[in-house]
Amino acid sequence: MAETIEQALVRAQTLRSGSDSWQLDGELLLAHALEKTREYLHTWPARELEAEQLLAYQESLHRRQQGEPIAYILGKKEFWDFELAVNSRVLIPRPETELLVATALELLAGLNAAVGYACALNIVDLGTGSGAIALALARGNKDWLVTAVDISEPALAIAAANAKSLAVGNIEFRQASWCDGLDAIEYDMIVANPPYVAAGDSHLQQADLKFEPSIALVADEDGLTELRKIVSQSKNFLKKDAWLLLEHGFNQKRDVSRFLQDAGFVNVECKQDFAGLDRLTSGQWPG
Ligand code: GLN
Repeated sequence: MAETIEQALVRAQTLRSGSDSWQLDGELLLAHALEKTREYLHTWPARELEAEQLLAYQESLHRRQQGEPIAYILGKKEFWDFELAVNSRVLIPRPETELLVATALELLAGLNAAVGYACALNIVDLGTGSGAIALALARGNKDWLVTAVDISEPALAIAAANAKSLAVGNIEFRQASWCDGLDAIEYDMIVANPPYVAAGDSHLQQADLKFEPSIALVADEDGLTELRKIVSQSKNFLKKDAWLLLEHGFNQKRDVSRFLQDAGFVNVECKQDFAGLDRLTSGQWPG
């Protein structure tokens, strides 16, 4: 006998032991299998599922039971004011990374005010992954040009697909390690959310992180190696008064500030994310 939406949602109880948000997870997975919204599920509880819809839903419940992140199962994630396609080759964009976007947009508005609004700014996103940060910035102003760099080809493929589906044209993709991908020009801003988790960090065994690419998460020297490299490389590519913005771990504020100050950056400042954790440090290049 065919199963109704209401009955299918009861199956989500199998997620109960593994996920605090099991009910929401079940609704998202069922809505995805039906290609409908969550509202639809509540409006039509007595509608029956087609055989393949039930099968798709059961398979996604199974994946979720194994701990796979919802974003990978759905193949998408909300970030800033848009939705991104994601897969297991890219980090799932985090809400705390929106702090970097908001701060970058504020500083870019400041630069534009100083140099004139019609002036195109050159912005770089190092380690773009799904393209989350680069796309949020490129959407901020069509006159800005964003260069999005990643060493991973599969990541760049996702990022480019996201740019296409969001119809963002003022973005260029480069496959390279950090600043190796940049032109010999001076940029107005470089941003990065590099890998910064220490190799032995117990968080890596938890929930979503277990399924995410370690190349996007883990760095040597307690997570500081890539942050250090980015600081030392970036200063060769920044205009006078340009900004470098780095997301980092909650316990890396002192090290990252020191990297920036030792490299000659000024106005070094750390900001806290919505959880009150040190998350973002910026510095200005005096030229
Ligand atoms: N903020 C991520 C986490 O701790 C790590 C992302 C990163 O290394 N850039 O889950």
